[in-house]
Amino acid sequence: MSTPITVAYGDGIGPEIMEAVLSVLREAEANISVDIIEIGERIYNKEWSHGISPNGWESIQRTKILLKSPTTTPQGKGHKSLNVALRKNLGLYANIRPCISYNPIIENKFDKFDVVVIRENEEDVYTGIEHRLTGDSYQCTKIITRSGSEKICRYAFEYAKKHNRKKVTCLTKDNIMKMTDGTFHAAFDHVAKNYSGIKAEHYIVDIGMAKVATEPENFDVIVTENLYGDILSDIVAQTSGSVGLAGSSNIGNEYAMFEAVHGSAPDIAGRNIANPSGLLNAAVHMLIYIGHAKTAKLIYDAWLKTLEDGVHTADLYKEGKSKQKVGTQKFAEAVINNLGKKPKVLSELLTSKDSKISQARSDYKQDYKVKKLVGSDITLAWDKSAALDQITQLFASHNLKIIVIYAKGLAIWPGSSNFLSDQITCRFIKNDEKQVVTNSDIINILTKFEENNFNVVKMDNLYLYDGKEGFFS
Ligand code: NAD
Repeated sequence: MSTPITVAYGDGIGPEIMEAVLSVLREAEANISVDIIEIGERIYNKEWSHGISPNGWESIQRTKILLKSPTTTPQGKGHKSLNVALRKNLGLYANIRPCISYNPIIENKFDKFDVVVIRENEEDVYTGIEHRLTGDSYQCTKIITRSGSEKICRYAFEYAKKHNRKKVTCLTKDNIMKMTDGTFHAAFDHVAKNYSGIKAEHYIVDIGMAKVATEPENFDVIVTENLYGDILSDIVAQTSGSVGLAGSSNIGNEYAMFEAVHGSAPDIAGRNIANPSGLLNAAVHMLIYIGHAKTAKLIYDAWLKTLEDGVHTADLYKEGKSKQKVGTQKFAEAVINNLGKKPKVLSELLTSKDSKISQARSDYKQDYKVKKLVGSDITLAWDKSAALDQITQLFASHNLKIIVIYAKGLAIWPGSSNFLSDQITCRFIKNDEKQVVTNSDIINILTKFEENNFNVVKMDNLYLYDGKEGFFS
């Protein structure tokens, strides 16, 4: 029986590269049945703000597999990113982007590398929780969970194990974000202990990315948070010679989505010059995922042979090195003609029957017994019309006292009040150890601020977890 898959043509170069890829899948006799849905600009312009219609969701829910061309995210209010909506609604927590050097066939600045970036796909600043706090200040909420971090780190180690890889590198910025990135790093260390045959290393993300960009041959599997992974995977994709080469998989416990790394390239849309290789590689990943490894290998090896033959799209074409500059469809025809042939220089696709990764789990269980409210960080819009001492005086006889006032994280009271910010955060802490703090105490503070014409724009409660501070500053 053929495997049903949902296919979306997308925007810009999407329809051209999808046609090319489907023609290769057809000729390779991939045992799939295709259900085509509409997504992207035209749908955004109708009534669905996420760029996908209810029929589209129904198809994906039925097939559980989506092969997707890139879509254009319209600028402006009311439109949400379709990609973010798909990842969140389908629980696609892992984004996998293998990037390989095709040297000497496709030139790049390096000789050999074979890097797989595994990016957490559901958390971090991609939660889309953003607020304008004041005239000048905006905030974006970064959410990192211990369970989500463990799940993606375990996925990375399982991936390394199943693909016979030797090392997993974790990138975080936990020297600055000790709670969020610190949690991701701790989850990585916890998971790594169960994989003694695989080397585990960690870099601070800035030097780590610099190293990947300059010495990619020293990396194997890299696991990181959503935003860092987004940036890093484009850097690595570009390093291999063209952003048009790499495909990516988005994997969840129930659903999976496969797409090219690049976007809809509106600058070259409709000209039959786009490279379909990124989407073709995504389709190869899809075939492996649904258990059609033989067809995946047939297509991948024919694709490598086509590159070796010097048949290149405009983004890869080099005078004197390439043999023939072809358009999108002609490139697909060349791949079709090479079905059954093997590359001579580039490495063939190695797939094992057992490369599918079972549901990644998290060991996280509640790791504390007693959670105690001890205070609150209350942020005010600030026009400097009052002195900071006036604020602290307001709470002189209150059961929570202000111990410090911050402006953008810098302590400005007690001490210097020379600062540039139109928002300040007052840290209220209970007066003595034995005191029990309740939400009513916090409400009393908010009421007092309002009675005195101060504008509260944000509030973050402070808790102790078995006596350990659940806040940092
Ligand atoms: P892009 O990847 O579309 O284009 C960047 C550059 O790479 C352009 O010069 C383009 O011509 C070239 N390029 C991209 N794919 C190519 C291919 N297959 N062959 C040859 N050249 C190729 O990035 P962008 O211009 O920043 O984004 C355009 C639109 O795509 C935006 O609306 C963005 O939101 C969207 N986007 C969608 C996805 C997705 O659907 N997964 C991903 C990234 C960007």
